[in-house]
Amino acid sequence: MKNISLYIITLISICFILPAIFTNSTKTVSANETNETNSKPPEQTQNETANTNQTQENTQNNNQEITIKLLHHQTGEIEEVNLETYLYNVVSAEMPATFEKEALKAQAIVARTYTMYKINNKKHENSDICDDSNCCQAWVSKEERLSRWEESKREENWNKITESVNETKGKIITYQNQPINAFFHSNSGGTTEIPVNVWGGSNYPYLQIVQTSGEEGYTQYASEAEYTHEEILQKLKEKYQDIQIDFTKDEQIQILEHTESGRVKTIKFGNHNISGVEARSIFGLKSNNFEIEKPEGKIKFKVKGYGHGVGMSQTGADSLAKQGQTAEQIITHFYSNVEITTI
Ligand SMILES: [Zn+2]
Repeated sequence: MKNISLYIITLISICFILPAIFTNSTKTVSANETNETNSKPPEQTQNETANTNQTQENTQNNNQEITIKLLHHQTGEIEEVNLETYLYNVVSAEMPATFEKEALKAQAIVARTYTMYKINNKKHENSDICDDSNCCQAWVSKEERLSRWEESKREENWNKITESVNETKGKIITYQNQPINAFFHSNSGGTTEIPVNVWGGSNYPYLQIVQTSGEEGYTQYASEAEYTHEEILQKLKEKYQDIQIDFTKDEQIQILEHTESGRVKTIKFGNHNISGVEARSIFGLKSNNFEIEKPEGKIKFKVKGYGHGVGMSQTGADSLAKQGQTAEQIITHFYSNVEITTI
């Protein structure tokens, strides 16, 4: 009889108490921004359903830790790493340690959110995320990171990075209680872009066009690329074999249309109209926010900003931090109608 009672009590514990302990509690820290939202739901870009391979283990302060499976893309090795420790390597790879502490904290929250989003929307088999910045999110080993800093700055820089992660521990950005697809880029040129203008598909309600002051103070803000007419033809020919441009006629090369954010939507090159995003790729421009000048025998692109322009601008985050904004304020500036919650 005693054994049966014990059995029942144990069963009740397993059914009700344990799930309650392991259920993520979400706590709203801040939410503002009242921009108009797009009524379309966030697009699920991956087919895989949520399969969170989370391992909980008790640490000294009894916090539950999340372990993720990190794919090292060069070796193919899959390493199980603690989420918070992994973020030290990500933040130090993604943002200069010289940036303001609140900007680094914003980057830590964004990187944690991006990781949680990737766990729910897997790109790779048998792993949650990879260390290739062109695929998932940049990552650098501590040894490599330290070796790239001046010796006298190593300890200070590393401490600043780890503090930024530790002080935001467990914080992620959510929309309707789900981690957002937290896109970010280097410099918005003053104005961010909506995803549909970069990748097509659908928009996300939390990714709107926002203006940020102070972006022009960074080296990533302005750049130029100049090509001879021959080089312009050569580059276009790789994609468009039948390209023909009469450079004596001004209308043969002209911007036809801009996006809502002021970036180039369509540009005419002779007998082809191509998208600004494609022109960026063909001519190796830092963004598709550009103007054209035509000095003798050449075409010059005068470019503003660096990156696709969607989501948080890193230099914008630093600029806002310099203006006294907190990490939470920076995040709600770049992502509309979101909440910052603790996992
Ligand atoms: Zn990847």
